[in-house]
Amino acid sequence: PTFDSMGLREDLLRGIYAYGFEKPSAIQQRAIKQIMKGKDVIAQAQSGTGKTATFSISTLQMIDTQLRDTQALILSPTRELAQQIQKVILALGDYMSVQCHACIGGTNIGEDIRKLDYGQHIVSGTPGRVFDMIRRRSLRTRSIKMLILDESDEMLNKGFKEQIYDVYRYLPPAIQVVLLSATLPHEILEMTNKFMTDPIRILV
Ligand code: AMP
Repeated sequence: PTFDSMGLREDLLRGIYAYGFEKPSAIQQRAIKQIMKGKDVIAQAQSGTGKTATFSISTLQMIDTQLRDTQALILSPTRELAQQIQKVILALGDYMSVQCHACIGGTNIGEDIRKLDYGQHIVSGTPGRVFDMIRRRSLRTRSIKMLILDESDEMLNKGFKEQIYDVYRYLPPAIQVVLLSATLPHEILEMTNKFMTDPIRILV
């Protein structure tokens, strides 16, 4: 299996190879094709498996950079992780002229508003700040087609459950959801029942 045979766009493939990846990891081989088909995916995966690149490649593949609208939203439990995800997306998308903003607490709200106003194809953030920006109508949700929930068990441990549900309520109804979690406790399964349709489950 190679990245070449996955049907990815040329400018993205170039970014993947320039980043130094030679071939897809197990989770990338299994999850990216399902996500590209439009399936909802539950990936039970630890860090170190290549999970970040899995959803980064998938979101980059699906966005239309001709539009300015936000088309993918990624929620994660910490500011550091949200920024790390933004960096990976910008690096893999280096040949795509993609705009990706990290929407995280502890930063200047005015700067967030300015960046979102300019147009961000992908937003990577923590649930609290993302919900804040949605409520202010600064982050417009109508063109969002994909929601990624990274380290979902950690987000629940940090008490973000309500904010995740709050965000979800503002998203278009037929949204594609990809959920990643090291463990799948009851509260996560509850979320998958509420947010997802016939999800494919991948264990790596
Ligand atoms: P993660 O599971 O997202 O924490 O990623 C773990 C590490 O694996 C990161 O340093 C990635 O850059 C690296 N990585 C992800 N996918 C690949 C790949 N296909 N080939 C080589 N390294 C990779």
